[in-house]
Amino acid sequence: MKTLSPSYRTGDLEKILVSEESISNRVEELAGELSAIYENRDVTVVSILSGALVFTADLLRQLEFPTRLDCLRAESYGNTTESQSPPRITNPLKTDVEGKHVLVVDDILDSGRTLQSIVEYLKQAKPASLKTCVLLDKKERRKVAIDADFVGFEIQDAFVVGYGLDFAERYRNLPCIGILKQAFQEAAAHRV
Ligand code: 5GP
Ligand code: MG
Repeated sequence: MKTLSPSYRTGDLEKILVSEESISNRVEELAGELSAIYENRDVTVVSILSGALVFTADLLRQLEFPTRLDCLRAESYGNTTESQSPPRITNPLKTDVEGKHVLVVDDILDSGRTLQSIVEYLKQAKPASLKTCVLLDKKERRKVAIDADFVGFEIQDAFVVGYGLDFAERYRNLPCIGILKQAFQEAAAHRV
């Protein structure tokens, strides 16, 4: 039997949900909205590792206000597509955000538990303001009452990969966002 070897390119996708071009246009728009709101304020951008890394890198370079960058890691999923609750913050902030404007950047809002934990965690640091920006929002899947202040795209209830989003740490390098073929979900999970 031939073993499936994930190519990590778009051929492994069942369907492309958001193209590279749409992402790029929307990131530019979001940066424009954020720049209009923050004007010349000094903002600490808190990127949620590892999923928001690619989105943050693109967004950050288009922001027209002074920024600092910090990162948090919240572990909500292992190598599965099932949510574990509550998510744990396993990599705390490096900078002190007391009295600072904080903008949280995450890849995707699903049940909402991750963003809720992050918001609770950051509030304890007493920032001057706290806003959230997610690239993707699966609104139908929400389990807790939380919405992001800025959303790139609302998407259907499906497990997606690409543009920073992984399956078992694979596929973060895809330039677009899509649904992985079932066979590759299995292949990616078993490849070391
Ligand atoms: P929540 O806590 O809102 O259920 O889940 C948020 C986190 O779960 C995201 O930051 C992301 O890491 C992961 N996640 C949720 N949905 C997806 C998905 O469709 N694809 C991938 N790759 N990760 C997801
Ligand atoms: Mg994440």
